[in-house]
Amino acid sequence: SKQLIMALLVLENFIGGKFVPCSSYIDSYNPSTGDIYCKVPDSGKEEVEAAVRAAKDAFPIWSSKSPLERSQILNKLADLIEHDLEAFAQAESKDQGKTITFARTVDIPRAVYNFRFFASSILHHVTECTEMATMGCVHYTSRAPVGVAGLISPWNLPLYLLTWKIAPAIACGNTVVAKPSEMTSVTAWMMCRLLEKAGVPHGVVNVVFGTGAKAGEALVCHPDVPLISFTGSTLTAQRITEKSAPYCKRLSLELGGKNPAIIFNDADLNQCIPTTLRSSFANQGEICLCTSRIFVQRDIYSEFLNKFVAEARKWKTGNPSDPTVDVGALISKEHLEKVRNYVKKARAEGARILCGEGVDSLSLPPGNQKGYFMLPTVITEVKDESCCMQEEIFGPVTCVVAFDTEEEVIKRANGVKYGLAATVWSSNVGRVHRVAHRLQSGLVWTNCWLMRDLNLPFGGMKASGIGREGAKDSYEFFTEVKTITIKH
Ligand code: NAD
Repeated sequence: SKQLIMALLVLENFIGGKFVPCSSYIDSYNPSTGDIYCKVPDSGKEEVEAAVRAAKDAFPIWSSKSPLERSQILNKLADLIEHDLEAFAQAESKDQGKTITFARTVDIPRAVYNFRFFASSILHHVTECTEMATMGCVHYTSRAPVGVAGLISPWNLPLYLLTWKIAPAIACGNTVVAKPSEMTSVTAWMMCRLLEKAGVPHGVVNVVFGTGAKAGEALVCHPDVPLISFTGSTLTAQRITEKSAPYCKRLSLELGGKNPAIIFNDADLNQCIPTTLRSSFANQGEICLCTSRIFVQRDIYSEFLNKFVAEARKWKTGNPSDPTVDVGALISKEHLEKVRNYVKKARAEGARILCGEGVDSLSLPPGNQKGYFMLPTVITEVKDESCCMQEEIFGPVTCVVAFDTEEEVIKRANGVKYGLAATVWSSNVGRVHRVAHRLQSGLVWTNCWLMRDLNLPFGGMKASGIGREGAKDSYEFFTEVKTITIKH
């Protein structure tokens, strides 16, 4: 199945347990060199139809397996991915532009953990039961898998986010048709090569590669796919909602963010500064949970800003496969252009750029001159209404502004259309509670960032999404509940 034609990697769809070539292909770039290195199937209705049929055929057998049998298969798959962790990490870094260090320590370990986590959690769910003794009856709920799940994922954390959907979907007994981002398809294809060995029956996991407009929409509009789990942009989610409306599909939508960090004058800056650098620039700022609006209380504003900018300048941008590099390449030429334009607009509006884009010079190794690189950039003296403070930039760019009071900062933090993740820095426990309660945000981290317990709900408010995923939440999403009454 792995073909090397003129040194290009050619991917194939994975349908009904077999690799199937496609009639046309899309070019996929290595973001750190700007070279085309891979061909991704440009699937459409026909390929999606075949994948849905295979998933439908596999459903009766897979859904009738016990949770323990499914759990054992998920654990086996986790072991196999872990065994190839280095190869997966190398591939993710090459395909996405992220640093090898991030792929090794975050992306692939988390993909492994996603399977282990749901292999375990599926064994521990209990359903409800109530008794109406005077009427002589008991009621209980029963949960069953829904059928063929359509899973659509973005390019920023490719295998990490795809497995966050595949693992709960199949653990619950559904079969799936997954469509990864056309820009980052390689690790999903590599995972398909391990499914048979893990004992995943043919047709349980099908992967169709291609664009959102063709392959994605064919999946969203397929009448035999009653459920869509989508992670991506708010704009695409609106389109998916419209397209799926005639079929009354169940949707889970994990979307963009414009996440605030609120730093009070009693914050421990020794912890806050390194963590806020990570929350702003990790994975080139291409994480939906990344901080992009930093509100600092006025009496520590200058101190924070000086230290923050000095530390941001130490982040090394360059070849992602160099383990000492902190910032890799952005996903595409178009995306780099879009992110740069935000900085240009900020400058035109009178904001100050303190470091990075247009201020510092970027020197790259000879092999990376055509890659899509950009330095960590800090913007200040920017108005709350500015597009840099309102729109998701999704790159290594963060804005720092001052605030005076708690009341004021809550209002400003909530003053965007998004509501995904917020961070609050203060050593006053009472304040932390008060502020956390009032922020319009699906996740609030205080004195930390990105500490996740997969047991608990993950998801956003407002334009950041609909629905939550996590142990119980994913179980509820990927199963259909029924209430049964027994009267003696
Ligand atoms: P995107 O919306 O462009 O694409 C996401 C996926 O949807 C891709 O697989 C794409 O091919 C597909 N798609 C595009 N148009 C489609 C259509 N009409 N029908 C069906 N599928 C379609 O997003 P992206 O640029 O790949 O990813 C970045 C976005 O994802 C950012 O907004 C980011 O915040 C968000 N994101 C959110 C989370 C979260 O958990 N909330 C996590 C990661 C990324």
